[in-house]
Amino acid sequence: MNLDRFPRHPLTFGPTPIEPLKRLSDHLGGRVEIYAKREDCNSGLAFGGNKVRKLEYLIPEALAQGCDTLVTIGGVQSNHTRQVAAVAARLGMKCVLVQEDWVNWYDGAYDRVGNILLSRILGADVRLVHEGFGIEFKKSWEQALDDVKRAGGRPYAIPAGASDHPLGGLGFVGFADEVRSQEQQLGFRFDAIVVCSVTGSTQAGMVVGFAADGRSRQVIGIDASAKPQQTRAQILRIAQHTAEMVELGRAISDEDIVLDTRYAYPEYGIPSVETLDAIRTCARCEGMLTDPVYEGKSMQGMMDLIRREEIPPGARVLYAHLGGVPAINGYSYLFRNG
Ligand code: PLP
Repeated sequence: MNLDRFPRHPLTFGPTPIEPLKRLSDHLGGRVEIYAKREDCNSGLAFGGNKVRKLEYLIPEALAQGCDTLVTIGGVQSNHTRQVAAVAARLGMKCVLVQEDWVNWYDGAYDRVGNILLSRILGADVRLVHEGFGIEFKKSWEQALDDVKRAGGRPYAIPAGASDHPLGGLGFVGFADEVRSQEQQLGFRFDAIVVCSVTGSTQAGMVVGFAADGRSRQVIGIDASAKPQQTRAQILRIAQHTAEMVELGRAISDEDIVLDTRYAYPEYGIPSVETLDAIRTCARCEGMLTDPVYEGKSMQGMMDLIRREEIPPGARVLYAHLGGVPAINGYSYLFRNG
């Protein structure tokens, strides 16, 4: 496997820490050991998160092409768009964000707090567009790219979640390499890696990275899109393409992808009672915050898999914490009593 031949623009602090979640492990019966890899603390750029690791591989191309404006898309409370806005600021580039109505949630200040608040402060041109959820290429995004061109700018196109892009899977191939060297220091290997999936390149990169030592199926994706067929197809497509790019030495097939579809209910962006329970439990056991859209659902999924012993007793589990907490400000009503 050869990741080093791709240029990388450092935007993260370096390898992210792995820490034991001892009290959460005990709370769930003490039969498994849970650890968290803290992608949510990966960068000083506006709270960081999983997109920063992906953008490290896209930015060299944007710079080489002489682009001056990053153009991307997400929901109103997109973590991705906030991270793109921060990266643009750091690089002295302009930024256009298309923010669509991906979530049926109407908390009073939903479009003024959390991620969108931060993106505005970071200087991005935030454009609210009334379109529903979808991880495919959107017309509104193509329109924004055209607008930049017509105004004489040079846009660099970043799709939703920095996923459906030729370089989108590379960042999380590097994550797997990093885990392998941390495992050497820890003196053991993880039996399961739990990751939240929506636009797919986080899991796709991990699948390729862990396929290198035969562990692709130990990457347990927890779907948060509630459109799991689309997410699964995108994970597979990105993983197959990424495997070729890094010369994995074998093809990736559908068998390599594990995507658990039981926890995204009731729909994308809306937490269930069980999601809220998982958010509170994790916060109160560990002081570690998760959000109602993504990580709360993967936390809920991991806890349930442990309780059901689908993650068997004796396992060492790595929870990939991908960030996303700023969005919780858009859900203040749900937490008005804690
Ligand atoms: N977790 C958080 C906090 C996110 O912002 C995202 C973004 O979509 C995900 C998980 C899912 O990652 P991906 O879109 O690469 O599947």
